[in-house]
Amino acid sequence: MDPSHAILFEPVKIGPVTAPNRFYQTPHATGFGWQRPQSGAALRKVKAEGGWGVVCTEYCSIHPSSDDSPHAFLTLWDDGDIAPLALTAAAIHDHGALAGIELWHGGAHASNRMTRLPTLAPRVQPALYHLPSTARAMDRADIRAFRLWQREAALRAKRAGFDIIYVYAGHDYLPFQFLSARTNDRGDAYGGSLENRARLLREMLEDTKEAVGDTCAVAVRLAVDELQGPQGVTSEAEGREVVELLAEIPDLWDVNIAGALGNDSKSARFSEEGFQEDYIRFVKGLTSKPVVSVGRFTSPDRMVSQIRRGIQDFIGAARPSIADPFLPAKIREGRADEIRECIGCNICRAANNEAVGLRCTQNPTMGEEWRRGWHPERVPPAKREKVLVVGGGPAGLEAALTLARRGLEVHLAEKARQFGGRVNRESTLPGLATWGRVRDHRLHMLGKTDATLYPESEMTAQDIRDFGAAHVVIATGSVWRRDGMGVCGMGGAFPAALTPDDIFAGADPGGDVVIYDDEHYFMAGALAERLATQGRRVTYVTPQAQVSTWTAYTDEQGFIQARLMGLGVRIVTGQVARSWDQGLHSVCTYTGREAFTPAETLILCTGRLPVTGLYDQLQGLPGLALVGDALQPSSMADAIHSAHRFAREIDGPQPLRREMPGLGS
Ligand code: ADP
Ligand code: SF4
Repeated sequence: MDPSHAILFEPVKIGPVTAPNRFYQTPHATGFGWQRPQSGAALRKVKAEGGWGVVCTEYCSIHPSSDDSPHAFLTLWDDGDIAPLALTAAAIHDHGALAGIELWHGGAHASNRMTRLPTLAPRVQPALYHLPSTARAMDRADIRAFRLWQREAALRAKRAGFDIIYVYAGHDYLPFQFLSARTNDRGDAYGGSLENRARLLREMLEDTKEAVGDTCAVAVRLAVDELQGPQGVTSEAEGREVVELLAEIPDLWDVNIAGALGNDSKSARFSEEGFQEDYIRFVKGLTSKPVVSVGRFTSPDRMVSQIRRGIQDFIGAARPSIADPFLPAKIREGRADEIRECIGCNICRAANNEAVGLRCTQNPTMGEEWRRGWHPERVPPAKREKVLVVGGGPAGLEAALTLARRGLEVHLAEKARQFGGRVNRESTLPGLATWGRVRDHRLHMLGKTDATLYPESEMTAQDIRDFGAAHVVIATGSVWRRDGMGVCGMGGAFPAALTPDDIFAGADPGGDVVIYDDEHYFMAGALAERLATQGRRVTYVTPQAQVSTWTAYTDEQGFIQARLMGLGVRIVTGQVARSWDQGLHSVCTYTGREAFTPAETLILCTGRLPVTGLYDQLQGLPGLALVGDALQPSSMADAIHSAHRFAREIDGPQPLRREMPGLGS
């Protein structure tokens, strides 16, 4: 280990328990929840094995009145929940880490779609995720019952084997709804002054400590700023005052920022590593208890700086631990160069928002620990056979690396001078430089294998046949389509339209530009931002009601819309492109009424076509396979997963296990 990193491996006492080091995997969603306990346990086990000293679960509901369906969440509603959760605690303990559990009540944020119980809140207000219903204001009996639910859930968590038990007053959930004047207009002892609004949080902490504090640490997760200005909790005023008020009551402060638009887990496009520091740095000055926060930390030197400068006692991480569960082990073993750094793309957040199992662009094994038996650092050895991978984008690099790790004789040919494929282009877009880590990590790790890399080597079908490999992996990627066919539109005649490929190849869009987005991920918005920043007059036309709509899942949509509006991009919604003649002819998606946007240049972002020419010509060749965007143009995460799966299954398909529902209750 680099001696300057030794401070990261010091044990830290948290109330009655001691963390073996400063690496703290803060709670994060997995998409497995109470329905898939074995998948959840296997995922957390890998984190503990990778050296995280504390590994926490995702949010765990304390009562059926806090039901987040259709999203997956844990439950401690009755004793039947103890055994499944004990699997996770035991899996974490197997590797010497502390197990934390995030007890949760969503209040007005709970959907209760499954349980159909009334939504609870400090006041009468819209039930935010179950419109058109309304949350009812909790009366004193509700508050008494609520305190009991927290206490009983804490006792069950202790029986399940957890060491750190959370009181969760972050992310706008119930205790925070009481705390914030924005959501609490009560006239009783739980409303009015900050002391009154913090009463429930204080009681929850005291109740939980009294219930389990003899052997378990009690942590509070608090949003110290909700980024709503002086109307709400801010780190200058009420966030600070709450910490002052409760300073020594919890055993650990887990602090972050909250509010709308995914502020806590901002993508790299909208935040730097350590971006929460300005908001949370005051906390350590007000308490003697350990403090943890997050900030997409992947650099060991930055982590050391966080500790040395007294910002926090732990290195809190959700996304960096998803991208590389073995991050701590790699630092400890002096292999920091091997860290698979999070790129901040928020595909992991999209999984949560789409209510599916966790996935990660950088780490294709994430979420596959139980159902496919994949491990992020270990692959089974395979027969040493000669394999040729054609195309060195994310998929080709991933296939080559995983096959080389399995012991095959790997040859990777790429027609361009630089390996990286689409990453080389996309990482030049505003805010996406970190995406280059997809390429850099794989190239670096390939350098540690015996794989042979051939840049500037465009392969023909004959070259490939002549190469004589036992396996040929075609990873030739995709191109942007020119016909305008997209999610909503069937295409049309668009002579001289440019595509993102043309722009990356250096085409100069002359005059005023229309960018037509019928793909709805990041590309059209990022190109509009780039061109507008260069001083171009840009009109963004889309059939949808907002720009880059799919990025709502990556928690970026609001930020992208705000940025384009700030740059003066004209946004035209609800229009499907039909044709081009000195401007874009389009029709309204609702009325069919025709519209015209005059401009000199049209850029079409409507979808991509797989590049399968080589694959088609090679049909019948033994050992031929298609992976990545050439198989199915999609996100980088999907391209990498597809290539990784191929490399794992080169010697035979693997079963896809499913956790089947039990029959009893
Ligand atoms: P993916 O996301 O699936 O990896 P990319 O489009 O990023 O797809 O990468 C595909 C790569 O394949 C590009 O770098 C491209 O230059 C390369 N490529 C395409 N055709 C050939 C070929 N005939 N020989 C070698 N490389 C090729
Ligand atoms: Fe990081 Fe993207 Fe992986 Fe999430 S999906 S952990 S943001 S690399």
